[in-house]
Amino acid sequence: MSGPSGVGKGTVCTALRGKLPELVYSVSATTRSPRLGEEDGVNYFFKSREQFLEMMQNNELLEYAEYVGNYYGTPRDFVEKTLESGKDIILEIEVQGALQVKEKFPQGVFIFLLPPSLDELKDRIVGRGTESQATIDHRMSVAVDEIGLMEHYDYAVVNDEIDCACKRIESIIVAEHCKVKR
Ligand code: 5GP
Repeated sequence: MSGPSGVGKGTVCTALRGKLPELVYSVSATTRSPRLGEEDGVNYFFKSREQFLEMMQNNELLEYAEYVGNYYGTPRDFVEKTLESGKDIILEIEVQGALQVKEKFPQGVFIFLLPPSLDELKDRIVGRGTESQATIDHRMSVAVDEIGLMEHYDYAVVNDEIDCACKRIESIIVAEHCKVKR
């Protein structure tokens, strides 16, 4: 699942977790500093730049991308083991990374979470109160570029209300499981 910064991916994922306890979540590695309340190993694996580069070199990442000055990547082992065990796993990642995953796992299901409008998106990023003005502006311009890449996704889900967005995603998961080709 991708979607611009501030669209509510984290909130939607937390809500989904409550509704679909069997769905496994991938915890990413990042060089970004933890936000207030974020825990290492829960929200992210917080790494130094050197540690992250080492993970990249050792081929420990399924995908990675640089996003607004920091690296983000998905630990490969956990995803592969989860899939081997027959479970569904959700990756909450930005667009460049999702396109890398699509090359490796074309059978994956790619969902793009959209804000009701760009004004609403900016209000949400500002309202979070965790980013400087320069970062907010940068995240907004990246958001516009990301929305332009939505055509590479299978589904577009508007996050107008958390419950509605969750229902749409749950429906997608159920429908995908019912596909004859699966
Ligand atoms: P944030 O700093 O707001 O937590 O995340 C910034 C962006 O990085 C979000 O769009 C988020 O989905 C994305 N992101 C988080 N983890 C990963 C990852 O493992 N790989 C990639 N490519 N993007 C990620």
